[in-house]
Amino acid sequence: MSKYILKLDREVCQSNFVCTAVDPRDFEEEDSGKYEGKVRLKEEPEDEKVHEIELSEDERGEGEQAANGCPVFAIELIDKETGETIAP
Ligand code: SF4
Repeated sequence: MSKYILKLDREVCQSNFVCTAVDPRDFEEEDSGKYEGKVRLKEEPEDEKVHEIELSEDERGEGEQAANGCPVFAIELIDKETGETIAP
């Protein structure tokens, strides 16, 4: 069951790819040109306005590392039930 939301703000992303290094399960470099070489969430729906995916308790660790590692705070891990920001 998903407990967390992992959110990416591509407007803020500076394409240094810390997130793809620490959390390759969830993030990948986007190479189609659609997002100007920025990252995307692997399970992100095709609708480009939606930049978030859901994570289970088991998946939390990597998402948290990505959120804490992003130098420009473009990634946020949110508790789905409370809406509280867990990281960064
Ligand atoms: S770590 Fe942050 S700034 Fe770097 S590619 Fe990922 S989202 Fe973009």
